[in-house]
Amino acid sequence: AQAAFRSDLAPLLELVGTGKESLSFMKKRIRHLAQQWLRAARRLEQKLKGQQGDQKHILIHIGFLTEESGDVFSPRVLKGGPLGEMVQWADILTALFLLGHSLKVTVSLKELQSNLGVPPGRGNCPLTNPLPFDLIYTDYHGLQQMKQHMGLSFKKYRCRVRVIDTFGTEPAYNHEEYATLRGFRTNWGYWNLHPSQFMTMFPHTPDNSFMGFVSEELNQTERQRIKSNKVGSMAVVYGKEASIWKGKEKFLAILNKYMEIHGTVYYETQRPPEVPAFVKNHGLLPQHEFQQLLRKAKLFIGFGFPYEGPAPLEAIANGCVFLQARFNPPHSSLNHEFFRGKPTSREVSSQHPYAEDFIGKPHVWTVDYNNSEEFEAAIKTILRTQVDPYLPYEYTCEGMLERIHAYIQHQDFCTMPSPPPPAKAQSPAMQSPPSPLALSPNATHLVWSPSARRDPHAWPPADSLQVWLSEGRHACTETCRRRGLVCEPTFFRFLNKKEVFLQLSITCDSTEYEMNHLYPAVAENVHECYLQKEPLLFSCAGHNTKYRRLCPCRDYREGQVALCRDCL
Ligand code: UDP
Repeated sequence: AQAAFRSDLAPLLELVGTGKESLSFMKKRIRHLAQQWLRAARRLEQKLKGQQGDQKHILIHIGFLTEESGDVFSPRVLKGGPLGEMVQWADILTALFLLGHSLKVTVSLKELQSNLGVPPGRGNCPLTNPLPFDLIYTDYHGLQQMKQHMGLSFKKYRCRVRVIDTFGTEPAYNHEEYATLRGFRTNWGYWNLHPSQFMTMFPHTPDNSFMGFVSEELNQTERQRIKSNKVGSMAVVYGKEASIWKGKEKFLAILNKYMEIHGTVYYETQRPPEVPAFVKNHGLLPQHEFQQLLRKAKLFIGFGFPYEGPAPLEAIANGCVFLQARFNPPHSSLNHEFFRGKPTSREVSSQHPYAEDFIGKPHVWTVDYNNSEEFEAAIKTILRTQVDPYLPYEYTCEGMLERIHAYIQHQDFCTMPSPPPPAKAQSPAMQSPPSPLALSPNATHLVWSPSARRDPHAWPPADSLQVWLSEGRHACTETCRRRGLVCEPTFFRFLNKKEVFLQLSITCDSTEYEMNHLYPAVAENVHECYLQKEPLLFSCAGHNTKYRRLCPCRDYREGQVALCRDCL
C-alpha cells in the first residue's frame, strides 16, 4: 500500500504507551509540537505531489528504556539527567508516524520478543516465521537484545535495522576483523553493519546517516514579539546538572558584571552549592517553560559540558546568542573520559561543533575561555549585537520529515551494489579493456563525465560526485567541507579504481588492494597507491600524514546537508 500522510497525532500517543517518566516526557513533547508537525507534513505532502512511496511496517524498539538494559534514564528525567535522547526518539516517532508508516513501539524485552515472533520461553533460536517488519529502529542496547533473542535470524535481518547512535560509529570501529586487528575495538561492539545504518543526532561523520531532531519554530508574529520582549541583560547557563558549574567561578564573576545570570539546575530542597548565590536558579523546568525562558534571554552560555545537545539549537531558534568554549586541543577518545571507548576518532573542537561550523556568527561565538580578556570582550560585543531567531532547515519539522522520507525510500542495505574487483590486482596483460571512464579531469579534481552512463536507481545520483585528493592531515570529511561540499561514502565505489590515480596525474609504482579505512589513497613520497579491499571500510573519517586520500565529495541542499541537490 502507498503511505499516506497522517493528519492526527492522537493515535501515536496511544502507541507510545504509559508507565515511565521518559514516555510521559516524550508524549508531552509530541503534544506540544503537534501543530507545527502537522503543518510541516502538509507542506511536504504538497512538495512530493503524491510520490510518497510504499507504506513500511516499522518496529521501534527503544532499548535504553527497557528494564533489561537497566533503564537508567527514566528515573533521571525529572532530575536533570540527559534528555537529548528522549527528544530525538519523540521526534523520530512523530516523523515516521506522520509519513504514514505502520508502527509498533516497544520498550521491554517481552514486547520485543512477541513482536519479533520469538516463541515465549525460547531464547536464541531462529525465528519460525518471516520477520513482520521492513525496518527496525533501535539503539545499541536494542541491537544487543535482538542479537541475543533472534539467533541466526539476526544475521539474516540485520540489514533492516537502523541504529540511533548519538555520537556515531565510524567504519574502522564497525568492522569486526579490522577493529580487532588494528586496535579499534570498543565496548560498543563491531556489528559489521553498513555504516549508514547508524543514525546520529548531528551530522558528525557522513559515514553515518544524519537523523537529527527538531526545534520549536516561530511564525512572523512570534518572532516580532520575541524581539520586543528580549531582556538584553539576561543570560541562561547551559546544563541541568550542578557538576557543570564546578570551577567556573571566574567566568561567572565576569559574566555577572554585565548580565543577570539564570540557571535551570535540578535540586531537591536546597540550592546546589556549585551554583553561586547571585545566580537565579529556576530548577529543572518542563520543556516548554524552558523555551519561554530562552525567549526572554539574550545569551545562552555553555561551560564545556554537556556536549552537543539540543538546547543550544533551541536557544538560537529563540533568538539567543550562544557563547561556548573552544577546545584546544580538541576533545577526543584519546584525551577525554567522556569520549573514551566511543567508536569514533572525532576531534571535538568546541562544546557544540555543529553550532560552531554550521551556524557560526552572529548566532554562535566560540572563544578561548582560558583567555579572560577574550571571554570578556566577547560578552561585551554580544551585548551590542542584534540577532534574529535562526533555525537551520534540517532541524525544522519539514526538514526532518523530508530527510527521513528520503532515507526510507532510497536507503537499502539488503540488496547491495555489486562487489568491487577481485582482491589481487591484475597484471596489466590480464586487464580487461578499459571501460568508458565515468570521471573526467578538471584541473584540480575529477568530476562525473557528462557522457558517462548513470544508474537511474543509484542514490544519491552519481553525477553529483567530485573527486578531491586530501592533504595528509585531513580526513575526507574535512577535505570536502573545505570545498563547500560533503563527503559521500556511497561514491567510494566509483573511485576505488587504478585509473582514477592516473586521471589525477598521480604516479603509482605499485597498486595494491588492502583492508584499510583510509584507502583508496596514495603514499606520495614513495609512489605507492592503495585501493580498498573491503567496501565496509570505505570511510569519510580518518587521516594519516602518510597518505593523501581519494575523497568522494558531493553538493548538498542548503540547510539540508544529508541530501544532494537532486536527491529528492
Ligand atoms: N530542557 C528542559 N528543561 C530544562 C533544561 C533543558 O526540558 O530546564 C530540555 C531542552 O529543551 C532540551 C533537552 O532538555 O531539548 C536536552 O537538553 P541538553 O541540550 O541539555 O541535552 P542533554 O545533555 O540533556 O541530552
